[in-house]
Amino acid sequence: MAGDLRDEGQDKFRDECGVFGIFGHPDAANLAYLGLYAMQHRGQESAGIVTWTGQRMAVEKQMGYVADIFDESRLARLPGHSAIGHVRYSTTGESRLENAQPIVYNTNKGPLAIGHNGNLVNADEIRRELEQEGSIFTTSSDTEVFLHLMARSRREDVVGALREALARVRGAYSIVLLARDRVLAARDPQGVRPLTMGRLKVPGQPDATVVASETCAFDLIDAEPLRDVEPGEIVVFDAGGTASASFAMGQRTGFCVFEHVYFARPDSSIFGKSVADSRRAFGQRLAREHPVPADIVVPVPDSGMFAALGFAEESGIRYGMGLVRNHYVGRTFIEPKQSIRNFGVKVKLNAVRSVVGGKRVVLVDDSIVRGTTSKKLVRMLKAAGASEVHMRISSPPTVNPCHYGIDTPRRKELIASAKAIEEIRAFIEADSLGYLSLEGMLAAFGHGDHETCSACFSGRYPVPLRAPDPQATLFPAEEAGEAAEEDAARTEPAPRP
Ligand code: SF4
Repeated sequence: MAGDLRDEGQDKFRDECGVFGIFGHPDAANLAYLGLYAMQHRGQESAGIVTWTGQRMAVEKQMGYVADIFDESRLARLPGHSAIGHVRYSTTGESRLENAQPIVYNTNKGPLAIGHNGNLVNADEIRRELEQEGSIFTTSSDTEVFLHLMARSRREDVVGALREALARVRGAYSIVLLARDRVLAARDPQGVRPLTMGRLKVPGQPDATVVASETCAFDLIDAEPLRDVEPGEIVVFDAGGTASASFAMGQRTGFCVFEHVYFARPDSSIFGKSVADSRRAFGQRLAREHPVPADIVVPVPDSGMFAALGFAEESGIRYGMGLVRNHYVGRTFIEPKQSIRNFGVKVKLNAVRSVVGGKRVVLVDDSIVRGTTSKKLVRMLKAAGASEVHMRISSPPTVNPCHYGIDTPRRKELIASAKAIEEIRAFIEADSLGYLSLEGMLAAFGHGDHETCSACFSGRYPVPLRAPDPQATLFPAEEAGEAAEEDAARTEPAPRP
């Protein structure tokens, strides 16, 4: 059996997608490759790059990891000074090559390519309507809706057509578009998913412009971050420079706090703030909210590391690497025999006896989804000699699914939606359990409740969800009715500031 043990038993919310765009560089495809490589954590199912050669769109995409897909010869088939790229983990649409992005269309506005991070809550509704009017979709991804709407727009210019398309869609989207002579980027009015822009020196030429989901993509290519694409903004990069247009102003924002809790790389700056700093601040508040006498603070690598550092700093308890991670476990891991299957989390993490033996351990992780991994880690630490294991979580209990581009288990599989904290503690066999409060998390995040999406913790969805729909494809068929009904009941339109 092969499996991605990063999310063993899907005991983490899974990353969504990452997008990258570049205009005005002779090595556009190579730089897109590096940008995607830096954002591999945002999607491991497929990756793709599209360039404008001057005559046509050149497209290379495949299932798999960025480094496995692109080699020198493949990148050589992507000439041009402008490119967009995408890494995907499917949140809607099946996991198959047809759904890999960027998606390319020939339209009456010329060839267009799009890469999308997020999830549209009204994609099914628009798709049904367009299909009834004769549109033929070639993928099951909600991203294709953008291109259909743009192709049908009476506006002849790409920006006008995009503006019209964006007026129809609702949900979370950070998109990059490649047209004949330009790269465009846009972010939904709530700014749920990140998107940031920067500039890159090109010897003897004007600076190139770049746009990416995370600033870690800029660091690898030595680009200078400039600013976020604002919620409700379209940015156009072309030979004339950079132009900006607003298509939705003054709405309440909904920055995904989970980007700072878990998804984004700690070396990125997201929504204008260092992810590492946020995680450290979560850990510091957690230590104040749930102090415990202990000998050592141990992070769950890698996601708990900065929060554990903050916990250790605030509590004065020593920080120690009591768990080590095998960094070479991935999709290619093959469990050799049925008789020795179920290595589970041990393949990925192991306890360090000399660090935890005889110690009262504070184990810090970013979240508990199903609880199965936490239980295995507590057992592992105790088997390695820890005298006590106190679990501390740097976010509140996750009780709701995400509808904005994050793959989450069904609500009934989220342990905190069904069990009280003491029951979870008993299930994971920890000596104590403490979660960061919602107020504490928002205070450390630094964006107020009216600027933040915290729906998987609070149930407050910043973009109203669609009406209950038994055909909904966000969840597999048998759970669609239940999920839509539950979510409709929980959804409250978000207040405006
Ligand atoms: Fe992020 Fe959770 Fe909101 Fe989804 S529901 S956008 S994961 S905070």
